[in-house]
Order: sequence, then structure tokens, then C-alpha cells
Amino acid sequence: MGMSAEEVHAVKAFGWAAKDQSGLLSPFHFSRRDTGEEDVRFKILYCGICHTDLHRIKNEWGGSKYPLVPGHEIVGVVTEVGAKVQKFKVEDRVGVGCLVGACHSCDNCSNNLENYCPKKILTYNATYHDGTTTYGGYSDHMVANEHYLVRIPDNLPLDAAAPLLCAGITVYSPLKFFQLDKPGLHVGVVGLGGLGHVGVKFAKAFGAKVTVISTSPNKKEEAIERLGADSFLVSRDPDQMQAAMGTMDGILDTVSAVHPLLPLLGLLKSHGKLIMVGAPDKPLELPVFPLLMGRKMVAGSGIGGMKETQEMVDFAAKHDITADIEVIPIDYVNTAMERLAKADVRYRFVIDVANTLKAA
Ligand SMILES: [Zn+2]
Ligand SMILES: [Zn+2]
Repeated sequence: MGMSAEEVHAVKAFGWAAKDQSGLLSPFHFSRRDTGEEDVRFKILYCGICHTDLHRIKNEWGGSKYPLVPGHEIVGVVTEVGAKVQKFKVEDRVGVGCLVGACHSCDNCSNNLENYCPKKILTYNATYHDGTTTYGGYSDHMVANEHYLVRIPDNLPLDAAAPLLCAGITVYSPLKFFQLDKPGLHVGVVGLGGLGHVGVKFAKAFGAKVTVISTSPNKKEEAIERLGADSFLVSRDPDQMQAAMGTMDGILDTVSAVHPLLPLLGLLKSHGKLIMVGAPDKPLELPVFPLLMGRKMVAGSGIGGMKETQEMVDFAAKHDITADIEVIPIDYVNTAMERLAKADVRYRFVIDVANTLKAA
């Protein structure tokens, strides 16, 4: 009640926050809770910039609460653990993704699907169990219940691993759940941004033949030579699309703009699955007839539970999968947001928090 963000908790914290719908980020003093019995406190080293951050700072989905410290692709090193913490110790390399809490008693939680818990608590712009606002990773340190931390294996570079915590799990979980993780399948990936480029890497690591589907041919060489895709399909080229009809077992659609589904459904074999993981803010048109002719499926998927997020990071470590990143200082973050809005990044901005965030 009337307490400033700096006075709510015992431990001082510093980060960058959006103060209003302009989305402009600037220095912000706040506070974080003491390390509870089951909590882990860690120094933040890097934080990825997810497209969600851009939507949230500008209140494009509604419900943004200011000041808003974004960031849910957070990695760092443990500095303190609570008395009952089992899994982590000081100096461990850890990460926090989109979630910091859930009810732990519903069906979803019982099945390790905290991401679908109706009472899940998001890493920022949410209200924690104690009634206080959650703040994200564009900040100097963080404290979280140990259940919501993952261990980052030693061979993964922390900066390039950060985007796995949102982008990585967002594509890994549906590839597993919809059984597109079997060798020899043909998997399409629509959109080659933050999600799409790691989608290509995971699908390849599962042994799929991977085709990138894009509106423009610009990224063809990069998709094939740098990311390891097997082929590239320009969705605006009717001849190419016609030649690829009925060839795919599944398609991961990462596009967050409104776009036609009909051409994508045409690419699927019978029983093929079109999995939506982007988040267009308007409804898409779903042509039903092509679904009937081939018993095709359209589905969605959102991030993943904590058990699967750890599994994904371990899989990434085993297969040397990280994001392709552009590391930036914190004072570049507003420019990065403008570039992200124009999809001018290959493929994820990651803030070098430890070296560039200095308390004003
Ligand atoms: Zn995200
Ligand atoms: Zn629950």
C-alpha cells in the first residue's frame, strides 16, 4: 500500500523497466524478496529478448502493469540457496524461463505441465504467491523457487543458451508431444526468426528432413548452410509450393503475423499436423475442407513444463544446440526493440547483463 517498488522487499535490485505504453525502457530501482527456504538467488549474466517482451512493454496484448521489467530467457550463477534447497548450490549455472510459480495441485501440475496450470505465475508482469509483482531478467539478480530453475550444462555457452529457456522449449515441446521427433520424418518450419531457427536445429537433431518455409528467398542460403535445413520453400512461389504438396509429416508454424493456413495444410501428408506456436493477435481463417481430406490436424502448443524444460536443455547440450545470437549492452535495448519489431535480428538479441547493467 503506497510502498515503492524499492521498499516492498528487503533486497535491493536494479534493472531496466518500461514505465508506460511507449515501451521505452529506462533504469529502475526495485527490490526482490529474501531467499526463502526453497529459493535460489542468482546473479543474472545474460537475458534474451523474446518477442513477448516487445508485446508486453507496449501493452499490445493488454494487461501490462507498469513499471514492467521484462525478460524470461534468464541465465546466471547461483549466489545463495535456501535451507531446504536440494538441487542447486552456490556457483551452479542456472536459468529461469517463462514461469516462476504454479498451483502444484491441479491435473496439469500433477503431469509436469505447470505451463498449462490455470494458476501459473509468469516470470514478469504477474502477481506472485505473496501478492507482489514479478519482475523479469533485464535486471541484476533474481530469486526463484528451485522448482522453476533449470541447470545449464557446462558445455553450453550461457549467452547462446539463454534463448533456449523460451524459444527452445516452445519448439522442442510440440516436436516431442506430436511425435515429430522420430528420424526420417519430413518437418516444415514456417518463419525463420527466434523460434524458427532453433526449431530447425531441434528437428534436425531428432533426425528429420527439415524444410524451411518462408515468404521470401532471402534467408535460403543461411537456412541451409548455417542452420542445417535440408531445403527451402518460398511460400509465395506457386510452382515450388505445388511441387511440395502432400510431402510433410508435420509443420511447426512460428509466425506471429496473420497469414493464410490453406497453403500450409496443402503441404501436409494425410494425418499431417500443423502446429501453431506463434501468437497472432487476431484470429486466423481455418479452411476445414482440406482438414477432412486427409484427416489432418491443426494444434497449438505453449512453452513446456519444468521437467521437460530441463530435458530440452540437456538434449541441447548433448547435440550442441544453442541460439544464434547478437549480444548487446543494456543501453542498446531500446534500439534492439525497434529492430526486433522489423525482424532485423539474426536470430535473437541477448543482453550482456553482467558487464553492462550498472546501477545509476
Ligand atoms: Zn518468450
Ligand atoms: Zn496447477
